[in-house]
Amino acid sequence: MSGIRAMNNDERAEEVRLLGEWDWWYGPPRYRVLHAADVTYDPSLDTAGEGMSVCGWQTTFAIPGIFSRMSLPRCAKCCDKLGYPRGTGSPKNDQRCRPLVEQRLSITS
Ligand SMILES: [Zn+2]
Repeated sequence: MSGIRAMNNDERAEEVRLLGEWDWWYGPPRYRVLHAADVTYDPSLDTAGEGMSVCGWQTTFAIPGIFSRMSLPRCAKCCDKLGYPRGTGSPKNDQRCRPLVEQRLSITS
């Protein structure tokens, strides 16, 4: 792997990390709840990878598709731990969450 390739991977990894902060993640087998998670970037999977949710679940998480991002419930435990309101849809799609995501990103990045 060349240095340039590695740098591109790092940039993409950061993009996917930010996507995950706005969209949250879901996981097998049912993909029915959105979690906040710390996911290790995997270039072969891109928007999926091994991770650990804020509520303590370890699995292969993926960034949901648009309909799931709009319709699935956010994990209550993840919401409570992060201080987000419980509700439906990705933080990006919930006006109450957007300022909280911005605040969180300014702290963690
Ligand atoms: Zn959770």
